[in-house]
Amino acid sequence: MILHWFRRDLRVDDNVALAAACRNDTPVVGVFCCDRRWFPAQTGQTGVHQATFLLAALSELATNLARLNIPLKFRVTDDPVQTLLALAAELRATSIVFNKEYEPAQLKQDSRLMREAARIGLPVNGFKDGAIFEENEILSSSGKPYTVFSPYRRSWLTRLGMNPLNMARPPRARSVIPTQPDPIPEPTVFGFSAVNLVQAPGERAAIQRLNTFARQSIIEYESQRNFPAVEGTSRLSPHLSAGTVSIRRCVNAALDQGAGQGVHGAGVWLTELIWRDFYRMILFHFPHTENQAFDQKYATLEWSSDPELRDTWIHGRTGYPIVDAAILQVRETGWMHNRLRMIVAMFLTKDLDVHWRFGERQFRFWLMDYDQASNVGGWQWSAGTGTDAAPYFRVLNPILQGQRYDPNGRFVRLYLPALRRVPDRFVHAPWLMPSALQSTTGCLIGRDYPAPVVDHATARRQAIEKFRRRSSR
Ligand SMILES: Cc1cc2nc3c(=O)[nH]c(=O)nc-3n(C[C@H](O)[C@H](O)[C@H](O)COP(=O)(O)OP(=O)(O)OC[C@H]3O[C@@H](n4cnc5c(N)ncnc54)[C@H](O)[C@@H]3O)c2cc1C
Repeated sequence: MILHWFRRDLRVDDNVALAAACRNDTPVVGVFCCDRRWFPAQTGQTGVHQATFLLAALSELATNLARLNIPLKFRVTDDPVQTLLALAAELRATSIVFNKEYEPAQLKQDSRLMREAARIGLPVNGFKDGAIFEENEILSSSGKPYTVFSPYRRSWLTRLGMNPLNMARPPRARSVIPTQPDPIPEPTVFGFSAVNLVQAPGERAAIQRLNTFARQSIIEYESQRNFPAVEGTSRLSPHLSAGTVSIRRCVNAALDQGAGQGVHGAGVWLTELIWRDFYRMILFHFPHTENQAFDQKYATLEWSSDPELRDTWIHGRTGYPIVDAAILQVRETGWMHNRLRMIVAMFLTKDLDVHWRFGERQFRFWLMDYDQASNVGGWQWSAGTGTDAAPYFRVLNPILQGQRYDPNGRFVRLYLPALRRVPDRFVHAPWLMPSALQSTTGCLIGRDYPAPVVDHATARRQAIEKFRRRSSR
């Protein structure tokens, strides 16, 4: 019997380790270890949206596996390694398989599993599945990891060769069922309140979304991807994070739509998938970046610890509509558009002078698609401390960004009812409205909507000065 340890690969389709376990008719059991560091709700790092998404995906996975006579076990544990080894012993497993992950904590756990299993003579095999190219497959000509995206992307594309990727063979039903499956608990069991997911979970929904996006929207991706009120992106990130769709299937869809033959939308979308591999590679080679600046000269920058400033950001009360609406959206739905992630991350780190790590942790809790490598990469990029980061003097202006990417305020009005009657020209800077207009539109600044917590122009100057002093040392 082979034990497949499911982590962020919650699917049957194109699952490399699962296909390997099912190569012949050996009985297979799946297991998901729910680490107490993630749930329950009161003490864990995972928020309600991602937890609900994962549990729903697991539930569908259990059904799909049952059709193949593969029971899925569900264990809540403080120590996944011990739990796995105990289950392997109980079921007399002859080996454990899993798909590799690249986060520092996971890598540590995997090597501990390998060591402890080797001690008792139990083979453990990790497979490449969650990345197209792993940490050492795309290196610079001097054999070092790339730290700038463009040359990495060029090498990545050369190596891909624009040929469709092979997919894992679909597993066939086993003839023996070695044990009974466990029920998959509802999120409420872990103390989460019931939420309606804005996105359908599970691998069926993932493949449907990918197919619809590839057929209908990829062609417009470049022109539509920056507008939060428009569904111009794939919204596949929760699925890629849970592994309910494989990265190979996504790359093949982009190639199918002409990414290699100059079809611009498909090519730009493929580039986004390459960012995902890039950040995995970076986190692998530079694990310190999970907590510290990639760029060492910024490692000891000083940041504000003013709890009131943080609070305005956390509760969406900064007085800048594009920032506030984005925060309210993610709190309510677990989703935030990429353009908004950049705006709110820059606002926190530059305008409010709060350490990016604070925002990174908050996103971990809020996002349905939380993925450590992409999140740390995105935060460090926005803060100006990371690989290939936005240069420190490029600070997004929340008013201009709003006017450019949400010109009629369609997005901000969805989450900020006080702005519903504010004329378009003031909707991203309502404090500039004359007081008579504030009264007639029912948006009195300080009463119906907060005044800006900082003056952007002043905060920007101070942030640039802080970084400039450090970078000229
Ligand atoms: C501060 C900040 C935090 C972020 N945190 C996360 C996170 O926790 N999880 C996450 O998946 N993405 C994160 N991103 C990247 C990006 O915002 C999301 O991947 C994207 O918004 C998901 O929407 P989509 O699926 O419609 O993307 P699409 O535009 O359709 O792109 C397709 C896929 O490419 C990948 N991708 C796109 N942009 C990026 C990027 N900049 N970096 C890495 N991969 C990318 C994602 O897997 C995405 O699903 C973050 C970005 C920033 C600026």
